[in-house]
Amino acid sequence: MSTTSKYEPVIGLEVHVQLLTRTKAFCSCSTEFGAPPNSNVCPVCLGLPGALPVLNRQVVEFAVLAAQALNCTVNETSIFARKNYFYPDLPKGYQISQYDKPLAEFGHIEIDTADGGKKRIGITRLHVEEDAGKSMHEGVNASDDRTSVDLNRSGVPLIEIVSEPDISTPDEAYEYLTRLKEIILYTGVSDCNMEEGSLRCDANVSIRPRGQKELGTKAEVKNVNSFRFIKQALEYEIKRHEEVIESGGKIVQETRLYNPSEGRTYPMRTKERAHDYRYFPEPDLLPLVVDQKWRDEIHARLPELPEARRARMMADYGLTEGDAHTLTLTKAMADAFESAAHKATNPKRLANIIQTELIGRLKAAGLELEDSPISMEGALLSADLTEAGTISSKMLKDLYDKCFERREDFPAVYEKEKPQQISDAGELEKIIDEVIAANPKQVEQYRAGKKTVIAFFVGGVMKATKGKANPALVNELLPKKLEG
Ligand code: ADP
Ligand code: MG
Ligand code: ZN
Repeated sequence: MSTTSKYEPVIGLEVHVQLLTRTKAFCSCSTEFGAPPNSNVCPVCLGLPGALPVLNRQVVEFAVLAAQALNCTVNETSIFARKNYFYPDLPKGYQISQYDKPLAEFGHIEIDTADGGKKRIGITRLHVEEDAGKSMHEGVNASDDRTSVDLNRSGVPLIEIVSEPDISTPDEAYEYLTRLKEIILYTGVSDCNMEEGSLRCDANVSIRPRGQKELGTKAEVKNVNSFRFIKQALEYEIKRHEEVIESGGKIVQETRLYNPSEGRTYPMRTKERAHDYRYFPEPDLLPLVVDQKWRDEIHARLPELPEARRARMMADYGLTEGDAHTLTLTKAMADAFESAAHKATNPKRLANIIQTELIGRLKAAGLELEDSPISMEGALLSADLTEAGTISSKMLKDLYDKCFERREDFPAVYEKEKPQQISDAGELEKIIDEVIAANPKQVEQYRAGKKTVIAFFVGGVMKATKGKANPALVNELLPKKLEG
């Protein structure tokens, strides 16, 4: 949508995140993905009459950790509620969720905006709920079409994170989701795997005349399975709303589905209102109490979060904002970089090599960081050798290529491939003499007591020998020569 449009979009996102617990929210069935249908079930998650739910402590701890990472206030007492509706994959006839007393409220996420600024997107609430089962529609011919129900997912713990309608463009929605996912991944409470349904997003969107305060009627696009598609669905919806309103029509509040291959949305059902769910407090569960002590214990486990980590890494290692973004994309990457960066002669050099030489080659080879043939220790050695001028950037590229071809780490490949060293004192002395003769000013500085200039001469000799000079020998010979 062009910014000159007389309408302004308003977007609010509801994100469901599956928690990485081993067992379900209210029973001890396994949450493992991909098990044979209906193999991880018991009377509780099958919804058999008389079975009683027992809250999984790990669910609470993960949900509180996520809430704290999202700057929410965690309520001391929250209440589980039954959300009643009929669906074939919901044998109980209700979902255990939270309604008027959610676990946490009043959070926010900071996003980068298109104009280079920052914007704070409010988080209305974060609550705990259980997942429903899954209907599987099968059959090729109309005659054998059928729907089967798999209840393995029934009772799997989720958190739902509801944003304020603070998001103004599809790009901001994309950015919000990216930041949200990054934060959740850092906390380790979910793998946020969209293909496996561990992260699902419903997007609410409306438009209003620019400057108007009151919100327009919204449509909700359900269960879009990639951030890119959410952006596309929002772009489509905004255009559709404009067209409807411009032609004198009215937007109806409804739920819609996005079809990525056609790039358009379709109405699914007119939106049910909260009162249709007949929420009431879950009589089989006590109010959930998370006291200050427990909140503090959980808070102590909160890792440094991406935003703060980027700022610190920029300061600690002299990185640019771009470097910091790339190197904190995953916690694993940030941890790996930092394990080596503090030992590097020049951490910025290491950051550059990881970005220009390592990440691209990993992508091309379809490898994750943990499967990289070049370890961080290897990358560190390569950075230090480059920094010292022992290897040229051309040589570095060749060595990295060889590491990936042979699936061998950098130190091993370097050991085999490194240029034959010049360890002949006579030969080196000749070169040292030349370097000294060419730099009288630095010689003067050295003789005047500035001993650090020695590094300049080491560099000079390395350059003159294309990195082949034996560094130990150079360090031995140089002072003698300089003191002349
Ligand atoms: P519902 O009861 O239909 O689920 P909620 O008030 O709970 O609606 O809001 C659900 C999501 O929709 C929230 O993320 C909220 O920010 C967003 N939202 C609410 N009203 C609007 C609107 N008029 N336009 C766009 N988004 C909206
Ligand atoms: Mg809703
Ligand atoms: Zn169960």
